[in-house]
Amino acid sequence: MGTSNALLKLRHVHQIYTSGSRRFVAVQDVNLTVYEGEFVALLGPSGCGKSTLLRIITGLQKPSEGKVLYRDQPLQGVNPYASIVFQTFALFPWLTVLENVELALKARGVPANIRTPRALDLIDRVGLDGFESAYPRELSGGMRQKVGFARAMAVEPELLCLDEPFSALDVLSAESLRNELMELWTTGKIPTKAILMVSHNIEETVFMADRIVVMDKEPGRILSELSITLPHPRQRKSEEFQMLVDQVYSMLAGQTQPESVELGSAPGEPGVTRSLPKVTITDLAGFLENLAEMPQNRADIYRLSEELNVDSGHILSLTEAAELLGFATIAKGDITLTPLGETFAEASILARKEIFATRIRRLPLVRWLLTMLSSSEKRSLPVGVILTALQLEFHREEAERQLETLINWGRYAELLSYNDDQEVLYLETLSQPTLHSL
Ligand code: ADP
Repeated sequence: MGTSNALLKLRHVHQIYTSGSRRFVAVQDVNLTVYEGEFVALLGPSGCGKSTLLRIITGLQKPSEGKVLYRDQPLQGVNPYASIVFQTFALFPWLTVLENVELALKARGVPANIRTPRALDLIDRVGLDGFESAYPRELSGGMRQKVGFARAMAVEPELLCLDEPFSALDVLSAESLRNELMELWTTGKIPTKAILMVSHNIEETVFMADRIVVMDKEPGRILSELSITLPHPRQRKSEEFQMLVDQVYSMLAGQTQPESVELGSAPGEPGVTRSLPKVTITDLAGFLENLAEMPQNRADIYRLSEELNVDSGHILSLTEAAELLGFATIAKGDITLTPLGETFAEASILARKEIFATRIRRLPLVRWLLTMLSSSEKRSLPVGVILTALQLEFHREEAERQLETLINWGRYAELLSYNDDQEVLYLETLSQPTLHSL
């Protein structure tokens, strides 16, 4: 495609957040062009900068560095040609469906005689005919999201941005809304020129998009792109569809790296501190048990996500944890249990705890925490202190997530105990002798 029909161009876009002395690269050197007629999906794990990019594209935020061009003009302020649908749409509870949709037009100064028929028409097109005077509380989640779509489309945006618009819906409503949107889009029933959707659901992007831009985190960046040329409506069960899903999984899951890269470094040491994937031991154990029942202890990552009925974001966190702990290796979209992983899956509760404790002691973040606790006077520290220390590496929310995972894993391994009332973390006495070997 020529550049003439490029709607949006991002050139060397960086987003850096600073808090105190910490500098956090949320988006690194992103180059992206969205052409007229395209449905582009930004796919990646949570924290890879997808929402940040959407905010930059819609002009809600200016990037720290780089250019944002809309029809070759630098974007200044809010992008008047774009509108955005969020995960859960903030409808005004005291306004009817019609009034909620009209609101966007009112804000743009569209007179009543134009905005009412246009809003009614859109409500009809998204399949909410008959619900014009209903209030949000009378609608199901799926229907409320349809109002969200109608509101975003009412201003006839050239670029419709969708921020995980189906992820808060139940499976059936999500699927029917996806189908309805695809019907509107592919038959040209909406004046939208291009759609840009953020998602962490692999199947959804293969189902809907013409092009998938695969991102990764730490730092948030584009890894690669994949064009999907299958005609619509796409058949999820078809071989071509499943091959594409598999291909995207392997792009996202990556390959098992050498141990030094895989583990990263401890806070305060040179190098990158790798965050722990947010998974609970219960989920991880269930996941490994399942793998142990597969032929040759191996599975296609995306088939597993279907079989276990968990979304692709979560399955990727589980594979990451299994890999980090040395319970599995990943190559070409397949995950294979290591002999250690197999032993863990088949072990008794006590033996599991021991294996787990040995494995997590290798992780720089756990090592760092144990050292900090063992060198404190009472072999304990208030969680607030640990949180502050973690914030030298991670931003606040991530630091909280990391602490939660550290506590969950550390307690399971019986390396740590936690006093809820006092919010104090202790080193378990039994873990004392082995600490000398740290
Ligand atoms: P995604 O949408 O892919 O989950 P986000 O764009 O929300 O990712 O965030 C990317 C990274 O930047 C995350 O680690 C997030 O916590 C961080 N982040 C987002 N907004 C801010 C902010 N205002 N200040 C500091 N960090 C932020």
